[in-house]
Amino acid sequence: MSKRVCITIDGPAGAGKSTVARMLARRLGYLYVDTGAMYRAVALKALRAGIDLNDAAALAELAASVNIVLTTDPREVTRVFLDGEDVTREIRSPRVSQHVSLVARAAGVRSELVRRQREMARGAGVVMEGRDAGTVILPEAQFKFFLTASEEERARRRQADLKAAGEEVPLARLKEEIKERDFLDSSREVAPLRPAHEAQVIDCSHMRAEEVVEFIISQVRRKTG
Ligand code: C5P
Repeated sequence: MSKRVCITIDGPAGAGKSTVARMLARRLGYLYVDTGAMYRAVALKALRAGIDLNDAAALAELAASVNIVLTTDPREVTRVFLDGEDVTREIRSPRVSQHVSLVARAAGVRSELVRRQREMARGAGVVMEGRDAGTVILPEAQFKFFLTASEEERARRRQADLKAAGEEVPLARLKEEIKERDFLDSSREVAPLRPAHEAQVIDCSHMRAEEVVEFIISQVRRKTG
């Protein structure tokens, strides 16, 4: 591919964004940025420190001081390091999943992480994945996609991901958790979850990740040659 561009992938929890974004980045030789992992890392640190998750100022201070490193190895696993500690597994725990949206609604946390996310994208071909990648982080991105899927399907995918990581969680509980998280993410004041005006919305309920990746690559190739 001749020209390196920015691609954003947004959407609600469990739509398959991470799988698609990771595969896409690998196919294109681009950098993959899992912005959700960064919010999860801050949430984990806040929970460990016993910070009141309604205390926006304390959360902002914590976000400014935290060191977060994301690495993607050849097997496509993104490892997440929080102040040097590998927290890849822990940031996916139910406790973090249940609290991360409270941390992510703090304006000071968002401005700090958005600044870092833009820095990571500078000069590189990048696949930026999250909730506000196309609306806030990279509004100038050449390609924007918004992935959705039915609630049932999203809960099932989350369950399969957790099972692969050795955790059995009932479907009903995951449905509730996803609903609650989407509600908080869509209704917050700063950078709510929504498709950018120019984003292509893809319903992935009946598509495999490979098909979504092929579709996106065909769109990108058509315009970049
Ligand atoms: O993508 P993932 O499900 O890991 O994201 C976890 C949470 O982080 C989301 O539910 C949302 O609250 C927050 N988030 C966000 N903005 C992003 C990415 C994630 O607010 N760009």
